[in-house]
Amino acid sequence: MNAKKKFDHSNDLVLLPLGGVGEIGMNCYCYGIGPANDREWLMVDLGVKFGDETEPGIDIVLPELGYVIGERKRLSGLVLTHAHEDHLGAVAWLWPQLDCPVYCTPFAAQILAGKLKERGLDEDVPVHVKPVGSRFKVGSFDVEFVSVTHSIPEPAALLIETSGGRVLHSGDWKIDRTPVMGDHFDETRFRAIGEAGVDALVCDSTNVFRQGFSVSEAEVSATLWRIIAEAKSRVAITTFASHVERISSAVAAARKAGREVVLAGRAMRQTIEAARACGYLKDAGSFLEEEAFGYLPPDKVMLLCTGSQGEPRAAIARIAEDNHPSISLDDGDLVVFSSKTIPGNEKAVSAVHNNLARLGVDVITSDDALVHTSGHPRQDELKLLYQWLKPRAVIPMHGEPRHLLRHLELAEEAGIDETLMAENGDLIRLRPGPVQIVDEVPSGRLHVDGKLIVPSIEGPARHRRKLSFVGIVVASLVIDRKLGLFTDIGIVADGLPAGLGEKLQDVAEEAFESMPRPRRQNDETVSETIRTAIRRAADAEWGKKPICRVLLHRL
Ligand SMILES: [Zn+2]
Ligand SMILES: [Zn+2]
Repeated sequence: MNAKKKFDHSNDLVLLPLGGVGEIGMNCYCYGIGPANDREWLMVDLGVKFGDETEPGIDIVLPELGYVIGERKRLSGLVLTHAHEDHLGAVAWLWPQLDCPVYCTPFAAQILAGKLKERGLDEDVPVHVKPVGSRFKVGSFDVEFVSVTHSIPEPAALLIETSGGRVLHSGDWKIDRTPVMGDHFDETRFRAIGEAGVDALVCDSTNVFRQGFSVSEAEVSATLWRIIAEAKSRVAITTFASHVERISSAVAAARKAGREVVLAGRAMRQTIEAARACGYLKDAGSFLEEEAFGYLPPDKVMLLCTGSQGEPRAAIARIAEDNHPSISLDDGDLVVFSSKTIPGNEKAVSAVHNNLARLGVDVITSDDALVHTSGHPRQDELKLLYQWLKPRAVIPMHGEPRHLLRHLELAEEAGIDETLMAENGDLIRLRPGPVQIVDEVPSGRLHVDGKLIVPSIEGPARHRRKLSFVGIVVASLVIDRKLGLFTDIGIVADGLPAGLGEKLQDVAEEAFESMPRPRRQNDETVSETIRTAIRRAADAEWGKKPICRVLLHRL
């Protein structure tokens, strides 16, 4: 009898990733409870990722939320796991379309407030501040912020309890048993959650290829102290602007070595303000303005600055180019890159290293010394978490496909019964029954292009990319009443080799003159004839076909 019994779908628990699965960045996950036509939703994280060289002029990429926007009447809230851009950065862009309450920790709320203010939304968004360790209700979802360690203050995993099952959504985490500031990884709580039973663990995959256990922030702190204590001349430390723990370590080392700290970089200043508003960096003392750097003796100053990813406008890039308005470094000074280079930024970072080398400045990176540790779990940490939680299923997230696949294997090796590799837009049923993909909904990404949000596929970035390869020719012609040319055809050739424009003008005029008069009556025919002639001639001469536009006027 039981074999034939169908599921009662009124209590289906589903997961719908809309970003962050198959990519590192742009995290956005929706949990749903109830039957397909009447699900209640809870969104977890709403982050950005950064545009790459295939998306010219695009700095920020957002998840496309069309499906949830359609369901927003039943969207009970948005919960943020921590304040990193890839988890929170899209809220200020997309919240108006969601119009739901937001839940986050005090530090994330500070960071979010700054972003909402920039977009004029600070009065509109209902932000509920919940400390790490607290439990709260979002609609019919019971949510708990469980303390983990990461690379920003107040990171939380989420225990999400519903009438249809219990999920542990890991957020970004590592197990750091000796963090330099903030709360500890709450192992006791994780074990207790495991005892009570976990249906699914939705888990960070960033460092799944790395064996062993990640290095504690305390070790990095000790290394920074040693380097700063031994330095004879000026020292600059660059790190992620949001890494409050690292900032705290660097500043503590500087104070111990009797160095003043000069701060450069707007993003870092904002993070420090947010941290102080939440009671962090109490012992850090005050920071000096950039102008002070030049007046202090070389062994009495440390610069703390942004630009560890080679960002061209950031402080360290400008210092390396020797065109920073108030800070310069010379022969014998030292720059510590207390960071890792995010894939894609290698060229930009090495350009900064080369510029520093030209000035005779020494550079220390995480290749040379333990000046950085990641905030994500390695294999042994993942295995420990499985042991504590004993989840029925593991669903990897926060990774490219290769990370997700390796994470699946690791979970299977560790004896997890059910694993599932998903893509953004997959609707995954977590309970009842085995974890499986039951539907697919539209997903995708949006571009922030200047002040506007535009689609990524048919948006302008794609066209700009084409322009960057082949340039553009605009031909302008005026046809008189006798169907002849009123003046010479005007040609604008942008991004083409010199001299080609003049040749294309001759080609366009010949093409026009060779058209029989009756054909010249049709705008479309004229435009297409000229366009084809220009592209063919450019291809014959240059080996490339430019984009071509024809502007046609008649008298
Ligand atoms: Zn992340
Ligand atoms: Zn993070």
